[in-house]
Amino acid sequence: MARKIISERFDKKGNNTLEGYKSNGGYQSFDKLFAMKPDDVIDHVKRSGLRGRGGAGFPTGMKWSFVPKSTEKPKYLCVNADEGEPGTFKDRLILELDPHALIEGIIVCCYAVGIETAYVYIRGEYDYPIARFTAAVEEAYKAGLLGGNACGKGIKIDVVVHKGAGAYICGEETGLIESLEGKKGQPRPKPPFPAVEGAFACPTVVNNVETISALPWIINNGAETYASIGTEKSTGTMLFSISGMVEKPGVYEGEFGVNLWDFIEECTGGVKGGKKLKAVIPGGSSSAILTAEEARNTNLDYESIAAAGSMVGSGAIMVLDEDTSIVKALEVVLRFYAHESCGQCPPCRDGTYWLYEIVNRIRMGKGRPEDIDLLFSICPDMSGRTICVLADSAAIPTKSYLEKFRAEFEAAIDHANPPERRLEAGGVNPEARAL
Ligand code: SF4
Repeated sequence: MARKIISERFDKKGNNTLEGYKSNGGYQSFDKLFAMKPDDVIDHVKRSGLRGRGGAGFPTGMKWSFVPKSTEKPKYLCVNADEGEPGTFKDRLILELDPHALIEGIIVCCYAVGIETAYVYIRGEYDYPIARFTAAVEEAYKAGLLGGNACGKGIKIDVVVHKGAGAYICGEETGLIESLEGKKGQPRPKPPFPAVEGAFACPTVVNNVETISALPWIINNGAETYASIGTEKSTGTMLFSISGMVEKPGVYEGEFGVNLWDFIEECTGGVKGGKKLKAVIPGGSSSAILTAEEARNTNLDYESIAAAGSMVGSGAIMVLDEDTSIVKALEVVLRFYAHESCGQCPPCRDGTYWLYEIVNRIRMGKGRPEDIDLLFSICPDMSGRTICVLADSAAIPTKSYLEKFRAEFEAAIDHANPPERRLEAGGVNPEARAL
């Protein structure tokens, strides 16, 4: 069930160095790569079915094909290593343990799309991954893999490591570009999309670390081989960061199409301490929650998780056991989004804050009888009305936690409003009203 493509070299000592990576089979895609025309490489990636591993799951080859072929402007690659979604911690392992795989993948992408400069935007908290990746880039320059005559092929490929300042919203592609340009990291309205007008108003490919790191394997082993792994529309494997109440949290690679709970159980040993499973958050904190039954009856691929009402997202799976308070879990999620809203759009700036405040008072034992309806009424006004999807990232979990675990919210509110006090206060606990 667990299958290694991306993580196959993670446990090999010294693999972070050029010498170690080469001795483990690295940098072997170039003969096949440069034997193809750039357009053929794009077609090859399309046929592999590789989808973006950063959250949206957009087909990678198709994204590349949106970049104009004949343009006077330079083209850029932005590798998104911001990895700010709560529960996600997979890309850091690539940066630390297999940095040359990312560099080799960058060379593949730059050659295919005709890009001369790649920016790798790494979140500011990742000091160690930044150091490991920067050292690998320096080695690649010294070896002639990067620079004015990259790989001895007469093409120019430069890699620039850019350290972010720790804002979640800079993981959104246009927020990342704004930040890279030295401005406030706030998302831009789309269109224009980055493929046409991205970094410095030039055509730009934005891809996640894991997506780019999969490219050497696809070139080496063939598009059809990659497409034969997983399911028809969710090809290949993905790294999943599994956290929460499991025996052995960590990063595990799995083939798409397996049963979600079987995969979690096989990798982590199941729920910690033999407790009962309550719920699974399958794709990071912005995804809809799945009940234990749904998690047991859903496969781990883009289509199956979507059919269950949630998403694969960034592959951040969080497991909640029978003792976990759903009210508290939602409060934590909403506190994060209220804090990280960049503030440009009122439905997001105000909506995330309102959702957090209401769930916070429910959790504090000061909830009001009308609070559940109030939360439900706020969510639709946040979804699809903003520049980026951060507002949805708060509204979607709110709606799903309330729908699937309503009784927990009602119990918390009932506790704040026992029947005798409701009569005294004309319907609600006066302390709750006073908040
Ligand atoms: Fe900023 Fe939120 Fe609007 Fe996104 S949705 S641009 S985070 S205010």
